[in-house]
Amino acid sequence: MRIFIAFFWFLLSIVAVQAQTGPARVLPGDTTLSSDGYTITLTLALSRAVPYRVFTLDDPRRLVLDFPDIDFSFMPPDMAKSIVQVSDVRFGYFKPRQSRLVLDLAEPFIIDAAVFDDHRLTVTLKRATEDRFNQESGPPADGLLPQNQRDTVILGNAGLPLVVLDAGHGGIDPGAVRNDVTEKQVTLIFALQLRDALLETRRYRVLMTRDDDSFLELPERIRLARASQADIFISLHANTVERGMARGTTVYNLSEQASNDEAANRAEFENRSDIVAGAVLLGQEDEIANILIDMARRETNAASIRFADTLGSTIRYALDKDAPSRRMAAGFRVLRSVDTPSVLIELGFMSNTTDLANLMSQSWRHEANLAIIAALDQWLTHAE
Ligand SMILES: [Zn+2]
Repeated sequence: MRIFIAFFWFLLSIVAVQAQTGPARVLPGDTTLSSDGYTITLTLALSRAVPYRVFTLDDPRRLVLDFPDIDFSFMPPDMAKSIVQVSDVRFGYFKPRQSRLVLDLAEPFIIDAAVFDDHRLTVTLKRATEDRFNQESGPPADGLLPQNQRDTVILGNAGLPLVVLDAGHGGIDPGAVRNDVTEKQVTLIFALQLRDALLETRRYRVLMTRDDDSFLELPERIRLARASQADIFISLHANTVERGMARGTTVYNLSEQASNDEAANRAEFENRSDIVAGAVLLGQEDEIANILIDMARRETNAASIRFADTLGSTIRYALDKDAPSRRMAAGFRVLRSVDTPSVLIELGFMSNTTDLANLMSQSWRHEANLAIIAALDQWLTHAE
């Protein structure tokens, strides 16, 4: 079962506006290789963004990064000597005008994430079994170009807290549907407006998991947040009920124990996203020591709960008082990030006429944006 598409080809929009004269150069200052034993992180700093693809090959075990023309003159020497998990680092032309960087892996590691942020490509590998490595490895099929083509550029000034906005559903997965309105539209419209509002404050950076009608698997959304070392991950959704008059905004944090049946049903619906799209479902990440995950998750979950509580109250004061916002917890897969505090907001009930009108109203969304920004401000101010 191939559970990770170890192949990316990001065509960054910024490539078009930057000078194309000569090959991109490796910048040695920010180019690093490190490992904590469970993961390997390679950061390759380049003089400008370029398209790339990354995959692993067996026999010998290696990580391969392909680029167009790259000038490796200033590649730091002896990188492989810095960690035992990598036995050699090789680079150079692979074909005319195509450069390749190869890391020989002393132990099996598979690709966990690859993200281009500004001019830095960061590839994270995680320890795996030999079998898993073999399953995930192989040359990318010819012509498999833009399947994962996404603009992963982080917006805003370096150094500011990074908010990942995750517009729920997308592409082949519409989410909830009410009359002509789909949840994937509602969440994208909201996310785009929230992105602009956050950037306008000049206090936050923003990364969108999607800014168009494309489909992303749930684990890919999490990976984007983790690889970009986001401060907070906010997944946006809209609720619906078949019967009853339910309305209002609900803020969720992850819990294996759902608050009640409604929360449990909601998580079940949202977790179906990958199945709807025909994607292969992930198993648990059993290769990584579970105890480490538990430790990290406890700490992250405390931060998530504190943000969700803060958000619950700012929304309650800012929005319609007839529909007090609610705080719940349930087992949403998209919130299962080990090291990124994460919350999920069900913005309103598409099954309720007032809520649906609110979701479609720019001024309601503006009020909701302000409430979310206020919660972020408070949460960060009181962060330990
Ligand atoms: Zn949803």
